[in-house]
Parts: sequence; C-alpha cells; structure tokens
Amino acid sequence: MNAEIIAVGSELLTPQRLDTNSLFLTDQLNGLGVEVTQKCVVGDHRERLADTVRRAVARSEIVILSGGLGPTEDDLTRDAVGDALDRKLVFHPEIAAQLEERFAQMKRKMAEVNKRQAFILEGAEILPNDRGTAPGQWIEESGVSVLLLPGPPHELKAMFTRQCLPRLARKVPRQVIETLVLRVAGMPESDLDQLIAPVYKKYTNPATTILAAAGDIQVHLRARCATQAAAAQLLAEVAGPIEALLGDRVYSRNGEPLEVVVGDLLKKQRATLAVAESATGGMLGERITSVPGSSQYFVGGFITYTNRMKAEALGVSKSILEQFGAVSKETAEAMALGARRRSGATYALSITGVAGPDSGGESAPVGTTYIGLADAAGCQVIHRQFLGDRTRIRTFAGQWALDLLRRKLTLPGV
Ligand code: ATP
Ligand code: MG
Repeated sequence: MNAEIIAVGSELLTPQRLDTNSLFLTDQLNGLGVEVTQKCVVGDHRERLADTVRRAVARSEIVILSGGLGPTEDDLTRDAVGDALDRKLVFHPEIAAQLEERFAQMKRKMAEVNKRQAFILEGAEILPNDRGTAPGQWIEESGVSVLLLPGPPHELKAMFTRQCLPRLARKVPRQVIETLVLRVAGMPESDLDQLIAPVYKKYTNPATTILAAAGDIQVHLRARCATQAAAAQLLAEVAGPIEALLGDRVYSRNGEPLEVVVGDLLKKQRATLAVAESATGGMLGERITSVPGSSQYFVGGFITYTNRMKAEALGVSKSILEQFGAVSKETAEAMALGARRRSGATYALSITGVAGPDSGGESAPVGTTYIGLADAAGCQVIHRQFLGDRTRIRTFAGQWALDLLRRKLTLPGV
C-alpha cells in the first residue's frame, strides 16, 4: 500500500524552515509496511493545493496533509481539500463551543477568526486535538484515506500516533519493511556501484539505495514482505552475494559507524589507542570519543599543528621535519611512534596532510595525506591523495585512519 504526504505552508518554502513532519510520518508509515511513494511541499495557495490533492487522491491509497488548519486567512487546507473532493465545509457548533471553552480556560476571549477551525468537511470524521486548537479530519474517499493534520509537530505527532496509526493498521494489509545497512570504507562510490549493481539490479524488492559520504558508503536494502521472516530471508539472499563481492571492505552490517566498530574491536582485544593529529586538528579524537564508553580504550590525543609541537609533544626529530617536511611518510611515522611511546597505548594513529584550500607552503599538493599506525611491531604508513574541499579532505583522512586500524584489528598480517 502506498502513501503520499503533502506538507502545507509557505514558510516551508523558505530557507529557514524545514518540513520535518513528513520524516516523522514516513517513519511511522514504514513501520506499518506502507511505502511513501511521493511527498511535496505546497505554499499557502488554494488552487495549487487543491490541484495537488486531486492528483494525490487519484494515485495513492493514503494521502496525509500536514499544516494549514489554523484560524488565519492563509490556513487553506480545509478549503482546498473541499475543492478537490467536491465537499462542502460544515460548521460544527460543538467544536466552536469547545474552542471557546479552551480560550476561557486560558483566560482569553476567543477571536472571531478561530471559528474557522470549527468547519469540518462533509462526511469527515473529527480528530480531536488536545494539544492545540485545530482539530484534524479523516475522510474516506472511494477507498482512499485522506488525513488532514495540524502543522505544529507536537500536535501532529500526538494526533497521528494516538488516533491515526491504530486505524491505519486495521486498513493496511499486514506487511513489514525491513532494512539492512551495509557500510563500506575505502572505496569510491562509482567503483562500488559497478561491482554490486549486477546483483541488486535483478531485484525490485528489496529496493537498493547507495548513500555516499567522504570515504564512507552505505548500501541500504529495503525489503517489503508479508512477514519478518520472509523479509529477513530475502535480505539475506541479496546481501549475501553483495557482501561476497565487497569482502573485507564491509565494516558494518547493522548500520553502526566505523568509530563504534573500531571501539568494539579494541575492547574485545583489551587494546588501547592514542592519536596524533595535524591536518585533522582533533577530528579523529572527537569521532572516537563520541562513542559512549570510549574511555575503556582511548587514552588520549596530541594535536600537533606546528613543527615545534610535533617535535616537543611527540619527539619528532628536527632532522626528519627539515629533510622530509611535515607532510611526509617519515613525519607520519615519527608522529605515530611518538604518540605510542609517550601515551603507552597499544596502538597509535597519526595524520598529517594538506587540507587546503592553500598548500600552506607545503610542497605537496592539496589533499596529500599520510596516515600512520604504530603498534608493538613497528609502524606502517599509507599515502592517499584526497579530492575535495577542506572538510571533505579532513573527513576522508579520519575515515581512512580508522579503517586502517580496523583492518589491523580484524585481518591478521595487515
Ligand atoms: P496553527 O494553528 O499553529 O496555525 P496549522 O495547522 O495551521 O496550525 P501551520 O500554520 O501550517 O499549522 O504551522 C504551524 C507551525 O508548525 C509552523 O510555524 C511550523 O513551525 C510548524 N510546521 C508546520 N508544518 C510543518 C512541517 N511540515 N514540518 C515541521 N514543522 C512544521
Ligand atoms: Mg497556521
């Protein structure tokens, strides 16, 4: 069964306001096994809104409108839905009385305009609103459920979960939507897609979406089935071959981010970690410590931006810095070894690079990054050339550093 959401309000077409109600509603509908196939934002314009409702009702089984139920002239949802469904608005004196009562409780006199909220579409069921003044409305129109809900999120949420969800659950055939999220590090999006598209293209169910951020790709598989067991089986059938193709580049099968995965591995091995950061200025330490319980394995970090700090805090020798420069394999190695020695941690990661936009006097081009990983056996350094703006390059660097450690912790001999 498909649903469509229409968020109403000109303010949602400005750069200041975001339609979050549809995200909430989508999550709730997915929980019932209902897919949201279309959603849109329409300004406070009666004809445009009526036109949108007409088209939505013609193609979807559930149409939910949010907002525009208030008392003012620009609250046009009632009128527009009336136009679209050819239903009159009927004045309900009992709603007007309740509104007056509500205002009286607040020791205020109700303005005349508030009476607008007592108009209900012919044949609609009233959804009482105990958190605000605008009641919601539920209309059944030739098998299509059309729901008019108030815009303020706390009103919409309460009304939807308490009054709409149980009714929709009865209408909707039993179906579950299960999502499996594979997270992949160290691979460009286009390479990944080329590799796994032959597998997922064979299926429309589950639907596959690929979300890419700097050095971090998520493969979402969404299965719609009658039962949880059937969905799990279908997901396994498609995820299996995808995982086989991606191999050890898959770092998480439950959506967990890399810092959590690395933290769990460190905990399991009773190992500790220190970091020495130049280009990332603390971003790596921030990511690691964003995980609750990271004090069990993270000992601390050195933010060494200048050569003097690299020498004093980490013991990087002047000759290395002079001979090879701050952005070099040798400096990354000396930083990691120094961080490990001075912190006493089992492992130490180091990052040095040119984040840009200027090269900052470094001979290396923007994006050049060296990542070091020191352990009891010595130190390995990887060199990468990242593309993008400053934030992207620094995010890449942190991601690759964590992934280098993950590989060390999971794959013997790396
Ligand atoms: P009111 O009686 O408050 O006027 P209403 O049903 O007319 O209720 P709107 O006027 O459309 O609702 O919106 C009221 C407020 O609710 C907006 O200022 C906005 O902050 C919030 N809001 C409306 N729609 C959304 C949305 N889709 N997502 C998030 N917030 C919203
Ligand atoms: Mg309003």
